[in-house]
Amino acid sequence: MLKDKVALITGSTSGIGLAAAHVLAEQGINLILHGLMSNEEGEALADSFAEQYNIITLFDNADLRDPESIHTFIDAALIKMGSIDILINNAGIQHTASAVNFPLNKWNDIIAINLSAAFHTIQKSLPSMQKNKWGRIINIASVHGLVGSVNKSAYCAAKHGIVGLTKVIALECAEQGITANSICPGWVDTPLINNQIAEVAAKENVEFEQAKYNLVTAKQPLPEMMDPRQIGEFILFLCSDSARSITGSSLPMDGAWTAQ
Ligand code: NAD
Repeated sequence: MLKDKVALITGSTSGIGLAAAHVLAEQGINLILHGLMSNEEGEALADSFAEQYNIITLFDNADLRDPESIHTFIDAALIKMGSIDILINNAGIQHTASAVNFPLNKWNDIIAINLSAAFHTIQKSLPSMQKNKWGRIINIASVHGLVGSVNKSAYCAAKHGIVGLTKVIALECAEQGITANSICPGWVDTPLINNQIAEVAAKENVEFEQAKYNLVTAKQPLPEMMDPRQIGEFILFLCSDSARSITGSSLPMDGAWTAQ
């Protein structure tokens, strides 16, 4: 059912996005790959997916802080791929500091990349989904879209924001064959959290692996980080026909973090 659909995954050069790209490619889904890497590296990545999975691929390195670049990116992707059927807003960054010390440029970047970019990609992709009367919008929020944590004012604001945006899109598209959901992961083993692990290692004077364990167990009852592929497989389920009634949901994958 999903073979030959087109999926755009922002931030698919690393971590969760890259793992999700492999999971979708295994089903014959054509891919618009995206992230911060050079055109040469990105095109090599896209070629390797095309060859490995016998799918059509495209790469773009639009900086999501710039709405005009996002518009240009999506317009070009629609011309080259014909449609965007599955949109996964995944790209994100993190910066930790108390609200009183939070650098303005970091606040602006986090809101732009983790929240506003999703508005722009959704706005530009929806007409293609509406035309085909089918679509899946999956926003990678976070457990921090549901609860707060100290030193994460911008991240929590953006992630709560994307949870709200998702609900509105789900309502607006409920009769159009298009679902919109947020996935809210706890700790996932990707480069995004390396700085936080390093901070714990320095503060507690422990090795990296011990710091990783301490970071996870401080808030998450399940004492292990998720493999990014687990998120990819959940995304694939949300794309399936079985998941057509799941819309407007904020779905935790958080090792019981928010069960407390
Ligand atoms: P990652 O650092 O491995 O990947 C981030 C991706 O975003 C990369 O492809 C990068 O190129 C892209 N990106 C960053 N800034 C960009 C910009 N200005 N323009 C365009 N692309 C940009 O991170 P990850 O852990 O895979 O994170 C993916 C998503 O999952 C993020 O939204 C993150 O908030 C969310 N998340 C992660 C965790 C975790 O523990 N790792 C937990 C919950 C939610």
